[in-house]
Amino acid sequence: MNYPSLYIHIPFCSRKCLFCSFVIAVSQEHRRKEYVRAVASEMNNHTGTRLRTIYLGGGTPSHLDEDHLDDLMNAIRKNFSWDSGIEITIEANPESINAGKAQFLKRIGFNRVSLGVQSLDDRFLKFLGRNHNAAAALEANRVLREAGFDNINLDLMYAFPGQTGEELEKDVKGLAALGSEHLSLYTLTIEPNSRFHAAQIKLDDDEKLAQQYVLIGRLLQEYGFAQYEISNFAKQGFESAHNRNYWQGGPYIGLGVGAHAFDGRRRSWNTPRLQEYLDRASQGIPPVEGCEDLTDEQLTMEKVLLGLRMNKGIRWDLVPADRRPQVEVWIKDGFLARENGNLKATDRGRLVLDELSGRLI
Ligand code: SF4
Repeated sequence: MNYPSLYIHIPFCSRKCLFCSFVIAVSQEHRRKEYVRAVASEMNNHTGTRLRTIYLGGGTPSHLDEDHLDDLMNAIRKNFSWDSGIEITIEANPESINAGKAQFLKRIGFNRVSLGVQSLDDRFLKFLGRNHNAAAALEANRVLREAGFDNINLDLMYAFPGQTGEELEKDVKGLAALGSEHLSLYTLTIEPNSRFHAAQIKLDDDEKLAQQYVLIGRLLQEYGFAQYEISNFAKQGFESAHNRNYWQGGPYIGLGVGAHAFDGRRRSWNTPRLQEYLDRASQGIPPVEGCEDLTDEQLTMEKVLLGLRMNKGIRWDLVPADRRPQVEVWIKDGFLARENGNLKATDRGRLVLDELSGRLI
């Protein structure tokens, strides 16, 4: 069955990282209880739905207190059902995880944690405006393991201005050596509403970035990680079921401020304004700000473009006939490859996939 995934956005953060452009709320701790209540009200529109995966993202979901998290999990249990063993993830930042919190998260039902390490170099953590240092990240990882989490993702950023190959190698090896099951590695980007954008921070050139990307793939292979998506690596059997649902064009429910949802045809998104979200959701008024119904062609192209992000690619017969001549050219140029009835990006193609996708639309 094509059950939807559930995404819940928790916007609270202790401070704003300099690269961040997400929908977040800083210094709004006093609103957490009210927020959890509003999300629980929003769930009423979906009561009885069976779920494929559950994911609390942000923001910083681990910034919620134990009683807030307890209330939230109780509301999820009350409104939804799922098969035992589905992936239930919470995003966490190192500064909001200690031994007690880790045990609590395990106890209330989370079975996967995505920890925002970002770097093991204090100089880069400071540059990013993170609220933790490398020692705190190591300690958070340790207590999560001790609490019994056997499915941990660690996030790493790279392509910092001036970052050398040696510095990147040290970071990647340090992270890989922590023994997690999953790693997500993202390049630093300068988003329009981030502080880095206001400060006009400039990134290094694309060629250096491509070299760093290739280096990461090579290093992680040595540590037993297989790449399965453009930015994601996993030990065998630990690919993220939640993210795979997005990349396969599956349906998902999105709750919380700024959250997006997709039912297989209609995409909708909630208001990104916290006060408006609280007012509407708590009164039982859907906090949806907008929606669009995708045409058959748009749905197919989404499946093609998202599917090409994954190493296994897509079925060849999904490629629309009118796009095939262009795709054939890219196969000849070595950016894409046909294998066993599938179309996939080559190592070279992954480096320019965004550009290829833009041209294919
Ligand atoms: S912790 Fe994450 S969501 Fe919060 S400000 Fe930093 S990058 Fe943004």
